[in-house]
Amino acid sequence: MIYHQLALNVPLYSLLTYAHPTALPAGTRVAVRFRKRLMAAVVWESNVQPEIDISKILPIETVFSDGWQLPAGWRALLSFTARYYHYPLGQAVMAALPKGLRQPAAVPLPRQEMMYTLSTSGRLQPPPPARFHKQHAVWQCLQSAPVTLQQLKTKHTQAAHYLNQWQQQGWIEAKPVPACGSIPASQHHLNQQQQHASTSIQAKYNQFAPFLLFGITGSGKTEVYFDIMAKVLQQDKQVLFLLPEINLTPQLMQRVRQRFPHTVTAVLHSQTAAGQRTSNYLQAALGQAALVIGTRLAVFTPMHNLGLIVVDEEHDYSFKQESELRYQARDLAVWRARQTSCPIVLGSATPSLESWYKTQQGDYQLLQLSERAHASAQLPQIHLLDIRRLPLDNGFSDIIKQKLQTNFIHGGLSMVYLNRRGFAPALFCAACGHTFGCPNCSAKMVLHQHAGQLRCHHCDFHQRIPYCCPECGNQDLNAVGQGTQRIEETLQHLLPDARILRVDRDSTTHRQDWAEIYSKIMQRQVDVLVGTQMLAKGHDFPHLNLVVVLNADNSLYSADFRAPERLFAELMQVSGRAGRADCSGEVWVQTRQPEHKVYQALAAQNYVTFATAELAERQEMGMPPFSYMAAIRADAKTMREAQELLRQALQGIGQQQPLPASVSAFGPVPMLMARLAGYERAQVFLESKNRRDLHHSISIWQSWLQHLEKIYPRTRWLIDVDPLEM
Ligand code: ADP
Ligand code: ZN
Repeated sequence: MIYHQLALNVPLYSLLTYAHPTALPAGTRVAVRFRKRLMAAVVWESNVQPEIDISKILPIETVFSDGWQLPAGWRALLSFTARYYHYPLGQAVMAALPKGLRQPAAVPLPRQEMMYTLSTSGRLQPPPPARFHKQHAVWQCLQSAPVTLQQLKTKHTQAAHYLNQWQQQGWIEAKPVPACGSIPASQHHLNQQQQHASTSIQAKYNQFAPFLLFGITGSGKTEVYFDIMAKVLQQDKQVLFLLPEINLTPQLMQRVRQRFPHTVTAVLHSQTAAGQRTSNYLQAALGQAALVIGTRLAVFTPMHNLGLIVVDEEHDYSFKQESELRYQARDLAVWRARQTSCPIVLGSATPSLESWYKTQQGDYQLLQLSERAHASAQLPQIHLLDIRRLPLDNGFSDIIKQKLQTNFIHGGLSMVYLNRRGFAPALFCAACGHTFGCPNCSAKMVLHQHAGQLRCHHCDFHQRIPYCCPECGNQDLNAVGQGTQRIEETLQHLLPDARILRVDRDSTTHRQDWAEIYSKIMQRQVDVLVGTQMLAKGHDFPHLNLVVVLNADNSLYSADFRAPERLFAELMQVSGRAGRADCSGEVWVQTRQPEHKVYQALAAQNYVTFATAELAERQEMGMPPFSYMAAIRADAKTMREAQELLRQALQGIGQQQPLPASVSAFGPVPMLMARLAGYERAQVFLESKNRRDLHHSISIWQSWLQHLEKIYPRTRWLIDVDPLEM
């Protein structure tokens, strides 16, 4: 018997040993029994010396050998991921596989699509008579150029039948569709800065070279990506393109299809149907697809011949997974580029301070696009409007109301931005001051007037809108503050003839919704857009010329040290929507703190000033990127239980296994959002300037927690490396 180490979806930090009569290559998918259940597993190593009694080792039940294994580079990526994020390897491996490959079942490999044309002997045949006009058309198609069956079917629904018949006669020549077909030239001539960026990246072809493409909104970053992508694809290499939220960017997909119409593209995101995802994944792995586009999970796609990685909007928080395997896809992408020896381009108008700092250190090469690409597009003018002494009507000052009215009269498109969906963020009893909190979370319930509900935006809890206060019985309940629905209502009163469209998570619950909204906007069927972050991300509405930010001040009071960075990026993104094409744009920001550094930098539209000041502050406080952090979290029904586990671990470690001197531990403290979905959450932060020391400390913590969890079975724990949540 040969013993194998297998990765299985079980919460164990070590791999499991199973037996097979012959040695199986690493990366082979197999099925095994674990506690009587049949489970999928991946061979990690063969010919190992078992460390347990061999009579207890079970055999591998089935081998899914379809002539393909998960490649070594992929396995190295997963080993690193599990190690870095202190997560069980088997679970990390399964999380990185699409559902089809996570099942203990064989999966057929996707068939390579073929192209057909007439063979030499086919060309000597007379075509089918013209009166069979569909059949005739199919023949002519085959005569003129290689075509796919799909294309032939548009001529005749029975095309497959005839093709088959002619193939048997030896009249047809078939060859696989090339993964990267011809790439038409761009309709734009790159400007000097774009050209410089593209050339610099191309110079590092075939070697690890990380770039930060820092380009203001509308500066033509996408064109730069496309230019290098085209070059890499033409060398028969694959490209991995990561972006924050795919369903919010139909525009980008459209541009990709336009620019790379004959390139086989595999799209991978959480809304890709399971079967499709498995097949796309395999297409990438087998090299049938040359371009892989996806959200964070796509970073785990095995690639046959990777030549370039692009991470668009690299600062976006959605690259970090906030459950289970808490990985940061951007960081893993950089690791992957290093391992593959290929360039990686991180692009943003407001780079993460982590990436910016790396350019300052000389680790990443900085490439800058400082002007808008579109000849007549200009940066918008940003005005801060101090509302401390201004009367507000449902959140709007008079000046803003006038701006919106004037823009509507002149036929412009306006956008009103606020980051709160629903009708009002809270309901409040005017008599006793009672507010309605979620029973499961430390959050107020949001009033959803149309649905007649109070809803928690953090868990599933919702209830009918109460007609009186549960504490004092008073029926005078006030909606406090504004949500997008309320703003929509206010705007309907203000501009009764305007076509107003609200865009938030409530108005885009179906997959198609966003595409429809988008086409409405582009066809100029909308005068005013009201919406949340969804509207801010990467969209290009050429005629948008007025952006109003209603109330963003709340984030300034957050205890999260990243809040200013996040707010600045968000507001720069929103502002960047204005004045994209040949109309100049104006941005108005209502605030009670116009002197705050975030607003000052925004008004000056100066990322560099902001980043420099913010980094100086971080350095003084010893915060990332000047130190490395990990959060050890625990949750339980009570805060006492949650903290107890952490306290015990802290004490035990302090007494028996002191952490390296460079590592400090804070806590346990409640998380900023202490209660979520019925659980109280506490955490300890570990911090160090030395990454190795930090990881060593996490390992110590991990073993203590594994030991203590038996004593505190009702407390769950997890490790979050490089946490973004506080
Ligand atoms: P970013 O990705 O930086 O926001 P885009 O690549 O979307 O910018 O470009 C913004 C707009 O400018 C798009 O409409 C794009 O077609 C146009 N554009 C980009 N590069 C050029 C160029 N070199 N010449 C003319 N227009 C360009
Ligand atoms: Zn809740």
